[in-house]
Amino acid sequence: MTMKVSWFHRFGGPEVLVCEETRKPAPGVGEAVVRVRAVGINHVDLDVRAGTSRIPLTFPHILGREFAGEVAAIGGEASPLKEGDRVWVSCRVPCAACEFCVSGRDNLCEQGGYFGMDLPGGYAEFVKVPLSSLQRLPSQVSFQDAAASQIAFGTAWHVLINRGGLRAGNTVLIQAAGSGIGSAAIQVAGLAGATIFATASSEQKLQRAKALGAHHLINYTEGNFAQRVLELTGGKGVDVVMEHIGGNVFTRSLECLKTDGVIVTVGAHAGEVVPLDIIPFFRRQLRLVGSKNATLTELRTVMGFVAEGRLKPVVHATFPLADAAQAHRVVASREIFGKVLLLP
Ligand SMILES: [Zn+2]
Repeated sequence: MTMKVSWFHRFGGPEVLVCEETRKPAPGVGEAVVRVRAVGINHVDLDVRAGTSRIPLTFPHILGREFAGEVAAIGGEASPLKEGDRVWVSCRVPCAACEFCVSGRDNLCEQGGYFGMDLPGGYAEFVKVPLSSLQRLPSQVSFQDAAASQIAFGTAWHVLINRGGLRAGNTVLIQAAGSGIGSAAIQVAGLAGATIFATASSEQKLQRAKALGAHHLINYTEGNFAQRVLELTGGKGVDVVMEHIGGNVFTRSLECLKTDGVIVTVGAHAGEVVPLDIIPFFRRQLRLVGSKNATLTELRTVMGFVAEGRLKPVVHATFPLADAAQAHRVVASREIFGKVLLLP
């Protein structure tokens, strides 16, 4: 039995992604095979494909960190799930034994692996997964919505709620509201009851951010966004900043913090090394914290909110598996609002 897969045999631009046939995986004991119906494209996919993430791979490599579909086969063991059941697959396989896993911080596990990076991912018709990765997908959630939700909402939840401590009545600045994580963060901040300041590069993106619940809209191409945040807050600044851009945006974001405020950093594509003035950190008791992915508990929490319709994934576009290269170009263009999906 064969299956279609979109993979690459060497690092390079989007053109290295080719659609070919390979052997369909068979489940071992304690494993299942999932028929993939939708897979989300993440920026990490582009980095892994280009070879810039410095992660050793075995070629050909199959990308795809977050996906949803149906159980196609179960190996050996008894499972609460059966063939044909709708599932989403948690993006990481934790070791379940290290100090982080046993204390519920499995997002920090260094032993386990990610689909699409350490393990073959979802850019394929079928993927082999451990039974423990299968999460039941409620009938009211489409495969597409499931594939667009896990990482964007999970990451946003971990940044704002877990690391930022965001709560009702707080003010929060969300950078790049048009990105997958930005549009997700606006909704999570709305659930938390915060007043939301959102930045984006165009009026169109800002209007979409407003529709998702942003209260104050700032076009960062039209002047100094930090100055605008201070004007809008009467000079006080905001309680929490979600910063995932890096470079100058990071440095300027520090100016947006209220006394005792917290900036959570979760990405740095625009510049990874920045100057840092330490003085405001003690004089104004500021906090800088990092954030990595989301715990399995948090992933289940956000997927529960998606099932209840309280978090609504934003899908920019979908492509067939054979057009993975084109889909990568669209994601790289950043002229998007929300997630780009492949439908194997
Ligand atoms: Zn672990």
